[in-house]
Amino acid sequence: MADPSAPVADPRARQAGSAETNPYQAVTLFFDRAADHIDLGDEMREILRTSYRELTVQVPVRMDDGRLEVFTGYRVQHNAARGPYKGGIRYHPDADIDEVRALAALMTWKTALIDVPFGGAKGGVQCDAREMSLGERQRLTRRFTNTISYLLGINRDIPAPDVNTDAQTMAWMMDAYSARYGYTPAIVTGKPVELGGSLGREAATGRGCVYCLAEAARDYGIELAGATVAVQGFGNVGSWFARLAPELGCRIVAVSDVRGGVLRRDGLDVGALLEHERETGSVVDAPDTEPISNEDLLELDVDVLVPAALDRVIHSGNADRIRARIVVEAANHPVTPGADEVLHAAGVVVIPDILANAGGVTVSYFEWVQNIQQFRWDEEQVNTELAKRMRAGWATTYGRATADEIPLRLAAFSIAVERVERADKLRGYAS
Ligand code: NAD
Repeated sequence: MADPSAPVADPRARQAGSAETNPYQAVTLFFDRAADHIDLGDEMREILRTSYRELTVQVPVRMDDGRLEVFTGYRVQHNAARGPYKGGIRYHPDADIDEVRALAALMTWKTALIDVPFGGAKGGVQCDAREMSLGERQRLTRRFTNTISYLLGINRDIPAPDVNTDAQTMAWMMDAYSARYGYTPAIVTGKPVELGGSLGREAATGRGCVYCLAEAARDYGIELAGATVAVQGFGNVGSWFARLAPELGCRIVAVSDVRGGVLRRDGLDVGALLEHERETGSVVDAPDTEPISNEDLLELDVDVLVPAALDRVIHSGNADRIRARIVVEAANHPVTPGADEVLHAAGVVVIPDILANAGGVTVSYFEWVQNIQQFRWDEEQVNTELAKRMRAGWATTYGRATADEIPLRLAAFSIAVERVERADKLRGYAS
């Protein structure tokens, strides 16, 4: 019989699901727990539980074979009390309204926790970008950008890359927006460096995860020299994490992507993996490695587990088989609420997504600042400022978790919700 708590493949089946299967319900549950913990008033709860604005658009694209395909796209703006809406654009068949809503709310809590002056938003187009040609993806991106452009602006809403979108996608978005409104590099972040992207942005999310891991290991007394690490997902976040984490003394023993994974108990040669992935499009079958499935990778006996692909991969069906001591949530919402409880009870340290992967939006903030100032920072300055913000985010979250004797996620959400509530009240939003 199918495991009812396992991630559901068909996005339509998620609409009526529970917090285990519906990401929006899960993020709302995390919010509710924090709201209870800080004793948030009913009026504020009502405001912060739902999105401010949700736009659903039709995105017709002429495909290479002459057919017209009509995709569905979304831009969800959750809250902008602390600054313009900010959040990535995802191209994925599962990017439905509930997923985009959930991710938009997570951005509000993330930007508040890491203390950059942004609110939270997210966008998505339901498409299988990996099956589309470069030309099809460019036409899709331009049409989507034009269609949602009324909501965007450097002081309104600033998109960024996410799953299956990258610096090239951001270059097309910037160009489409600029063609209509005049040259506006600050309209998106995560651009190519040649077009005003920030040095250090590409590595920032993975690098931020590494900083968080170092802080967590120190405060929980876990030795990283010689520690073993498994990373699920070898895209922007996972591959940069795998490249940088060995600087802490640990060794990457397993990585995977959508096609499968590879294992080498003595430690993988990450440089060789990157080369193999560039040549073949996947880490699968890299020389000197054993194959491993994505499911088995999560259950490896390692010290550190880094889910860096998609949401809900650790759920109540497999949580009791997770053997890592630290889980770094590099992806957004990789651990369901039910799994979170199981991991907490087992003493596994879970560094929550809104802290662990906040390095991306932090350097996006630096990119936006540089674009507005028309001035470029060197990479050392970017990384120094990133380290400062990540360490401050960790110290605040860990301090709160220790003081209130609560899990890190509840601490992180409580701090974030308090900050957004304060900004909303100061601005008179609920008056
Ligand atoms: P990406 O598209 O660059 O990489 C995604 C990786 O996951 C790829 O290796 C892909 O093969 C793999 N993958 C996809 N489906 C999979 C599956 N079913 N099983 C196993 N692996 C699978 O995306 P990314 O930018 O690295 O984002 C990864 C995660 O990090 C997402 O949850 C995203 O929201 C989050 N995130 C990204 C950033 C950023 O700056 N890019 C910032 C914060 C959070």
